[in-house]
Amino acid sequence: MNPARLLLVIPCYNEEAILHLTYSKLSVYYNSLKQQGLITEDSRICFVNDGSRDKTWNIIEQLCRQDSNIIGVGLSRNFGHQSAIMAGLEKNIDNFDCFITIDADLQDDMNAIAAMVEKHREGAMVVYGVRGDRSSDSWFKRVTAESFYVLMQKMGVPVVFNHADFRLMDRRVLQELGNFKEINMFLRGIVPLVGFRNDKVFYNRLEREAGETKYPLSKMLLFAWNGITSFSTFPMRLVLYFGVFNFLVAMIIVAYILFSYLVGYTVPGWTSTMLPLTFFSGSNMMALGLIGEYIGKIYEEVKGRPRYIIEKTLNE
Ligand code: UDP
Ligand code: MG
Repeated sequence: MNPARLLLVIPCYNEEAILHLTYSKLSVYYNSLKQQGLITEDSRICFVNDGSRDKTWNIIEQLCRQDSNIIGVGLSRNFGHQSAIMAGLEKNIDNFDCFITIDADLQDDMNAIAAMVEKHREGAMVVYGVRGDRSSDSWFKRVTAESFYVLMQKMGVPVVFNHADFRLMDRRVLQELGNFKEINMFLRGIVPLVGFRNDKVFYNRLEREAGETKYPLSKMLLFAWNGITSFSTFPMRLVLYFGVFNFLVAMIIVAYILFSYLVGYTVPGWTSTMLPLTFFSGSNMMALGLIGEYIGKIYEEVKGRPRYIIEKTLNE
């Protein structure tokens, strides 16, 4: 089978400390893929500068000058990891057959790329890189990250366990992805929604060799929250459940208030204060949950996701 025209997309935010190392490792590896006949000679590597404040863009410019295999894309400001990936992919969609996204720090083992390309040859349209061993991550990062995947799955978000943004996509998948018009692209949730035949490649997560993580805890939590709220109206449904529960409890308290009033346990004014208070606070919460249900529906609609994606038709 013919080798694939591959584009590697690498989002970079303040990565001056590691970019040269990443470039030299990747270009050696890329050449070996070309020699093995896995990818074409005109396959490229695209660095996307996500509004870095350090010398990242200067380094990308310099790499582009010295090596015509490198493509540089510079964003006007910091748009975030997911948008940087989308920019690199969409800018180059017409010129390549398949696309792999990988972090600039090469924590996701680049040696899995060959296996991904093999799976693509065998017919997989999406190949997910899955972290097999995370012992290089801190205990805290591992536990929080893994519980994140479990929580997401429990809330009905179709994420692949321990898969981040190291994945191969065929051009066809990328075209369909373009029909998901939402601004908040939580790619690990959306790519499985696009469908098509997929496969997995397992690799061990490595240490970051230079520079620091661009995902401190605060950003990680924000990312997780974004992922949940872009996919699931479950948190809103909880309000409704809680509202119904509150209302039932309120009814019991109302019965108690009335009973106390009838048997004459109460001081004047207590019943007329407690009764509306309990009744209305119980029903308020339920009404809020109900409004939430409709807002949830509106939210699903405004995202304007495609209703279906046709893969093939026969006897058209
Ligand atoms: N990144 C980005 N924009 C941002 C934050 C991060 O493009 O606003 C890139 C970053 O340069 C790296 C990748 O996203 O290539 C993942 O970041 P990092 O390795 O710091 O995350 P971690 O591996 O610690 O989760
Ligand atoms: Mg990293």
